[in-house]
Amino acid sequence: MFKKLLILIIIFWVSCFSANAFEYAYAPNGYKYVIHKHSESSYQHAWCSAHKGIEEYENKDKTRVDCLTEYHAVEFDFANKWAESIGQALHYQLMTGKKALVVLILEEPEKEKVYYHRVKKLGKIHGFDVEYVTMDILNLDENGKCPYFDCKCHRKENNHSSSSE
Ligand SMILES: [Zn+2]
Repeated sequence: MFKKLLILIIIFWVSCFSANAFEYAYAPNGYKYVIHKHSESSYQHAWCSAHKGIEEYENKDKTRVDCLTEYHAVEFDFANKWAESIGQALHYQLMTGKKALVVLILEEPEKEKVYYHRVKKLGKIHGFDVEYVTMDILNLDENGKCPYFDCKCHRKENNHSSSSE
């Protein structure tokens, strides 16, 4: 009995202090979300224009590919959504006939690269491509703002409730 209690306390203690890769915040309704500095669409704009792709390409079933390039149907996601990104990319591959490419956004590459390696390993086994981007692709100005005015970095402060992206 005492042993069991001790184990529970240790598990609780470890889970409290183990490193967490993501920074969380709470919306007024109690919804927990991960804080990102820039909008997913900003990374999408930067990468897709650099690769001369078509953004928001619409499939026959009305789903939209984040970026369609000559070779790839691309899905962008922040690292915390690594699992969903694979499902979406594979669906876009089926719809477009182009190879699925997951581009994971690593705002804190040191901490988040583990998710890239995880998806990369699955890509090798299941036949899809994986890349990552960091904030470097955004060409930030001296205030840390990116060139995309619809990005959350240009919104006024205290407006975090809509930032579940
Ligand atoms: Zn931005």
